[in-house]
Amino acid sequence: MSGDPVALTRDLLRFDTVNPPGRERECARHAGALLEEWGFRVDYHEYAEGRTSVVARAGGSGSKAPLCLTGHLDTVALGSAAWTRDPFSGETDGDRLYGRGSSDMKAGVAAILLAARSLARALPATPGLVIVLTAAEEGGCIGSQHLARTQLLGRAGAMVVGEPTSNYPFVGHKGSLKFHARFRGVSAHGSMPELGVNAIYKAARAVSRLEAFDFGAKPHPVMGGPTMNVGTFEGGQGVNMVPDEASIGVDIRTVPGVDHAALLSRLKGLLGEDAELDVFSDMGAVWTEPDNEWVQRVFEICRRHLGERPAARTATYNTDAGNLRKAWAGAPTVVLGPGEAKLAHQTDEYVSMERVREAVAIYEELIRDWCGP
Ligand SMILES: [Zn+2]
Repeated sequence: MSGDPVALTRDLLRFDTVNPPGRERECARHAGALLEEWGFRVDYHEYAEGRTSVVARAGGSGSKAPLCLTGHLDTVALGSAAWTRDPFSGETDGDRLYGRGSSDMKAGVAAILLAARSLARALPATPGLVIVLTAAEEGGCIGSQHLARTQLLGRAGAMVVGEPTSNYPFVGHKGSLKFHARFRGVSAHGSMPELGVNAIYKAARAVSRLEAFDFGAKPHPVMGGPTMNVGTFEGGQGVNMVPDEASIGVDIRTVPGVDHAALLSRLKGLLGEDAELDVFSDMGAVWTEPDNEWVQRVFEICRRHLGERPAARTATYNTDAGNLRKAWAGAPTVVLGPGEAKLAHQTDEYVSMERVREAVAIYEELIRDWCGP
């Protein structure tokens, strides 16, 4: 294959990895085969049929752990509005390359792959690289959650997440704690509510308590405070029945210093003993002090491309880093990729081809900086 990041992005766009259902396997095998061809040792991990993540390594010697470059292979759905471009063929117009997942984040994956390719021969006898391409990032970071429980991740000393930032290095993002809480009642005829226990009333009282909840957390200087949103409320089967079941869906975004286990136990107390909690996303906030030595070097490399020295900013979205850092506790992390965050999940999503080429150059410099003499 050619070394052109636009051609490679287009190759990746042609795999329909819309999640749900995901179906990352073919795309993962394609990327893995390329990495193998370039001398990487490649492992695959499927947490479910066809939901394939890739872990590839090159180099890795001495005491310094490798640098991780990571991205996800799945995309969100096309949405209900009609596209004016083919979402899977990689149409171009001027500097724009269109497609579902172009900005979020197959261009980022392509840039990671090509930077890895161009330096592959120089990696033996250096700390080396670990490339992690995940399934099922959209809607809960499920692929990385499973990956973090395996031995495949090994070590990493720092992490670059190629999510869309227009090549601006972000030093973290909020954490995520999402759960459903189910409340049980006792069914009765709507004409005799005194014979039943109304689960909707229980859920409603819980929602009121959640609305008034005070995290008691100090605001973070860059991220601000933690937030909570009750996003769903379901219950009842008919207006003439006392509902015996109701459930709510809660989305909490946390900041560094908020301990999820402690927070969850406070919330359990608040929701009441008989509330059944199903936590389906639990990732701590990702934050690296901007004066971290490696982050300073990343800023310096980006400064030459951006024309300004980056400031300490954080991304508005979550990334797989929240899970990967469970395996690599404390690894300094930046979110840095060629896509445009504002185009992620949009109809007629595109990426700037110039930015993709720039991302390859930035990643190459980051690899040289980490692995160089
Ligand atoms: Zn993404």
